[in-house]
Amino acid sequence: MIEDKNQTRTSLSELGEFGLINHLTKNFKLQHKSTIKGVGDDAAVLDLKDKQVLVTTDFLVEGVHFDLSYMPLKHLGYKAIMVNLSDVYAMNGDASQITVSIAVSNRFPLEALEELYEGIQLACKTYAIDLVGGDTTSSTKGLLISVTAIGSIKKKDVVYRNTAKQNDLLVVSGDLGASYLGLQVLEREKQVFKVNPNSQPDLTAYTYLIERQLKPEARKDIVKLLKDLNVKPTAMIDISDGLSSEILHICTQSKVGCNVYEEKIPLDPQVIATCEEFELNSTTVALSGGEDYELLFTISQEDFPKIKGNPHLTVIGHITQESEGVNLVTRANQQIKLTAQGWNALAKED
Ligand code: ADP
Ligand code: MG
Repeated sequence: MIEDKNQTRTSLSELGEFGLINHLTKNFKLQHKSTIKGVGDDAAVLDLKDKQVLVTTDFLVEGVHFDLSYMPLKHLGYKAIMVNLSDVYAMNGDASQITVSIAVSNRFPLEALEELYEGIQLACKTYAIDLVGGDTTSSTKGLLISVTAIGSIKKKDVVYRNTAKQNDLLVVSGDLGASYLGLQVLEREKQVFKVNPNSQPDLTAYTYLIERQLKPEARKDIVKLLKDLNVKPTAMIDISDGLSSEILHICTQSKVGCNVYEEKIPLDPQVIATCEEFELNSTTVALSGGEDYELLFTISQEDFPKIKGNPHLTVIGHITQESEGVNLVTRANQQIKLTAQGWNALAKED
């Protein structure tokens, strides 16, 4: 053991691979009857009965998807799980198991991985998920995490991206753009810190933004809310890349067009204030920011009274026929074609 002031650093080589896996996973409790066998054999065994199985994977790479200079490892563990659960919920499904694979360089002591797994464990507890396996290996540089989430759903309840219909309403949960701005704030502080390591940043004006970036929540609650309201979306996707890009996925795959109203896009007051400070257009941020992990879905007009006035849901547009294209209707009542990057101000349409 190397004593680092009052921080203990245990080299991973002291434990060996099996010791490490055992150490990291021993406190995870299995919560699902469907988990017949979890960690410890060649493969996990699940019994999802007569339901359809949902499987989704995401890869997170240090330096590409996260920066450990401002992302605490516990948050990273939590977020890695959220990113995956969000995809299961976007199918209207129920997530029940995950596998977690990590590749780590010898730069990381055991204590770092313990922190990472604390975040993973908190996510598993909060969302009732069983950790049932994974893989552990070394990397020459940096940390890589791949998570696979497994869920299930009754065949009649699955919601795909490609089934939006003309005249459906386009609805989004929560609010948009905060996570992107949180990242901008953290990046700015990192630069300030580089110049002056003694600076004491006051981040109280940005707490919501930073929380959305560092500790996003997958919207399991929205899937339940829709069930309780007896609303089955006609199409659904989660917002990982930005509202604009996700609307285009739904529209392209469903072969429909859409009008989205700028004035309807839900924004938190901190998003509005921080956009002014950074001289950013809040609509652009909401459309292209990404990492919101909100749900974007379409519903039949008949279902509108069931969601009307719900504080978690906002109708932001409606589905049109394919030939009308995918447009943002601005506050000035101009129609602008949406692109995956947000909108192209040069491609104005009259
Ligand atoms: P194998 O060599 O057969 O692939 P491993 O030694 O990699 O088996 O894994 C042993 C057990 O530990 C398996 O159940 C595997 O799923 C699990 N496991 C390995 N790495 C991790 C990890 N990072 N997190 C959770 N479970 C893990
Ligand atoms: Mg293995």
